[in-house]
Amino acid sequence: MTRPINVAVLGATGSIGRQTLDVIDRNPGRFRLFGLTEGVRSTNREADYLVQGQAGEPEFDARVESMVTDPRCDVVVVAIPGARALGPTLSALHAGKDVALATKEVLVMAGALVMKAFAGRAQGALPEIKGIRPIDSEHSAIWQCLWGERRENVRRLILTASGGPFWAHPDLDLDQVSVEQALNHPRWSMGPKVTVDSATLMNKGLELIEAHHLFGIPLDAIAVCIHPQSVVHSLVELVDGSLKAQLGRPDMRLPIAVALAYPDRLSDAVPSTSMKELSGLEFHDLDEGRFPSVRLARQAAVKGNGHPAVLNAANEEAVKAFLAREIPFSGIVRSVEGALGAFKGGGESLEAILDADRWARAYIRENSGSLRAL
Ligand code: MG
Repeated sequence: MTRPINVAVLGATGSIGRQTLDVIDRNPGRFRLFGLTEGVRSTNREADYLVQGQAGEPEFDARVESMVTDPRCDVVVVAIPGARALGPTLSALHAGKDVALATKEVLVMAGALVMKAFAGRAQGALPEIKGIRPIDSEHSAIWQCLWGERRENVRRLILTASGGPFWAHPDLDLDQVSVEQALNHPRWSMGPKVTVDSATLMNKGLELIEAHHLFGIPLDAIAVCIHPQSVVHSLVELVDGSLKAQLGRPDMRLPIAVALAYPDRLSDAVPSTSMKELSGLEFHDLDEGRFPSVRLARQAAVKGNGHPAVLNAANEEAVKAFLAREIPFSGIVRSVEGALGAFKGGGESLEAILDADRWARAYIRENSGSLRAL
């Protein structure tokens, strides 16, 4: 490489965005900050493109479109939270960019559509994932385990879940837990939406759908297990019974570094792990009765036709209502289940997916009254 890789960071002020800037800063000869988007806060950075505002605003979207389709841009890091990341991701993919994807909602809503945007590019080789490089730690782990393996040799994927703050307390009444308790994640430091998703286990439901699309593995060949230490980031089982896992500290700078540098490795992306930190690793079955999110996500993905978009949008709105203290914690998953039950089904086009998204948001807003705090 004769010049540094030009990186555009969509969502530079969020948790993943800030850690991406950190990885870029620490490797100045290798990466260059080409463009970024900022929300209300500022990063005080200079770049060829600096776009302020929110995805969904026409001026913001137009400037992001110019940034991610600019011929000088090499890699686009997508870390805008939620459904609004879909448009910019599709633009970057259609422009032939490598996309380092942190926003799982993009694949949950429109996985088939997004993967189709790659048809004709790198043809289905597993390690390339046709140009998307996952930043989600579980998917980065699976991706790394799959390097050098052929798809037909994969028996199943095993996603690990920390379990969030409530898993280890089976006597806790999930109708009564507070916003502060839900935001107190035992292992990872993340934004409020994904932290609540981790507490409901909906994060793992969304990740199940994400993994299905990214790796082309059937839904019934993707399992979830609880691993409270968050050291084993996920596993792949091969047809001969061999298990491969990727381990490391719960530090998002590692999956970010892997996604940016692929197929290289960055020296000292995170501190070394001592063998002592690997003692006492536990793995438990998921209690789907108490945490039905993964089951709901699996059902939505099997149905397709806008159901995953409804799952995602209903969850986003219900999490907002919980954070605003309008519904109880247990009301989040009940809301999502209600929306999925009421949805009549749509199609797989972008318009149909966006319709399903809007329908689900309206449904939650109209019906959250029945779930108001006790
Ligand atoms: Mg994750």
